[in-house]
Amino acid sequence: MRVLAFIALLFIAPAVVAQPSVKEVRTWNGPDHTRIVFDLSAPLTHDLFMLSGPNRAVLDLRGATIPAELVADIENVGPINRVRTGQRDDGARVVMDLAYALSAESFAVAPNDTYGHRLVVDLQHDNAATRVDADATKAQRSQAPVRTADISAPDEFVVAIDAGHGGEDPGAIGAAGTYEKDIVLAVARKLADRINAVRGLEAVLIRDGDYYIGLRDRTRKARDANADLFISLHADAFHDRRVKGSSVFVLSRNGASSEMARMVAQRENRADQIGGVSLSDKDAQLASVLVDLSRAHTVEESVGVAKVLLTEMDALGDVHGGGVEQAGFAVLKSLDMPSVLVELAFISNPDEERRLKSRDYQRRLAAGILHGVKAYVARQRPNLQLAGGEYVVRRGDTLSGIAQQHAVSVQQLRQANNIGNDIIAAGRTLQIP
Ligand SMILES: [Zn+2]
Repeated sequence: MRVLAFIALLFIAPAVVAQPSVKEVRTWNGPDHTRIVFDLSAPLTHDLFMLSGPNRAVLDLRGATIPAELVADIENVGPINRVRTGQRDDGARVVMDLAYALSAESFAVAPNDTYGHRLVVDLQHDNAATRVDADATKAQRSQAPVRTADISAPDEFVVAIDAGHGGEDPGAIGAAGTYEKDIVLAVARKLADRINAVRGLEAVLIRDGDYYIGLRDRTRKARDANADLFISLHADAFHDRRVKGSSVFVLSRNGASSEMARMVAQRENRADQIGGVSLSDKDAQLASVLVDLSRAHTVEESVGVAKVLLTEMDALGDVHGGGVEQAGFAVLKSLDMPSVLVELAFISNPDEERRLKSRDYQRRLAAGILHGVKAYVARQRPNLQLAGGEYVVRRGDTLSGIAQQHAVSVQQLRQANNIGNDIIAAGRTLQIP
């Protein structure tokens, strides 16, 4: 009898364990949306609806439980004021009081290397305002076929800097626990500062915080900013930890140029699955086909930028592979501007992970990319006078060489940096007058 009871318990027990529960709640606050991620013990069905007077978002988690203390962290994040939970017969209910009316989306995300089953709720900020803006821009463009950047600031070259991943999507993770999303954001910010210090150049940060942006939204932001060049920053990972070096990729028209390029593209494109694909992104595939056609000519230009950048990366350390690689990156599609994807280094290589964490190395990476951008602009827009900025001296550099590169005299360079003779140490930062 006791054996029977024990067996019966075995059959009942899984049913009890299987009741899904919320294990953790995380939030990522971006400029245009707030993302709330519920980590679940098991997949569940849910319902999300909005109420007004006062404005609320109500989330029903069918058959689930949620510890009340978990939702305390959501309060005062983005448009959320107060959060309440309640246990009902058919599951748990989460009520979020909102500062204003907004639209929301929710979707389930399957487990990956880092997380288990998740439920994602996206609260879209200022939805109506964004739509009006977009329409106004469209109208403006149809009236004036010339790009707005050319009208307002003909003497500016705009560089969109896209720090890959973010928020729920950490990107590659190093052996010591370094997240790709943090490294690339740090380098992106340093690069933006450098670029903005140069008269004639302007930087636009596509991501400036720890939140996720869909791959299509990244390119849209760059286009809205009338960017002349798009640089997506990443840090590679490979199962073989010995592999190291930086690489520069451009979009491919005829498939990946190497097995490595194909693998990197696969991994970076997967970001949208990790970060959570927006359900309203259904037209993305169609858009990518259309834009691929118009993009063909910019591939050549992109290869030009990539070659210059690769030379700069080469001066900093190892470069992986032979030259500019081509692959099908989603983030590089639908761009009608030259665009490159830079894998700064292999975060999976312990030496490179250590270097990537160092502020000094991040600065040198930013300086190298800036140098590449300047060289590209000098070739592409010879009439645009770039002035100011900094240059980090490399081994083998001469004062006259640096002066020539930046179109200043040796005398000006000496004065700006209080240099008495011609000896300059590698690693020193020079002010370019
Ligand atoms: Zn990446």
